[in-house]
Amino acid sequence: MTPGTWLVATTVLGRPVPVAGRYPHLCGMTTTATRSGNPYRYTGRNCAACAQQLDPRAGAG
Ligand SMILES: [Zn+2]
Repeated sequence: MTPGTWLVATTVLGRPVPVAGRYPHLCGMTTTATRSGNPYRYTGRNCAACAQQLDPRAGAG
């Protein structure tokens, strides 16, 4: 485990994603579910970056 990185995003994108930056979009990315071993595809509903854009409270200011 690497401190200072988004664990899920780092795993999905295959590169270190520092927590200091904006959370990256995972929508459209496909990863392998840890428990089932089946491919898992992120959509806008699963994407934290999309959720922040859609929630006006998250970007208020
Ligand atoms: Zn997204």
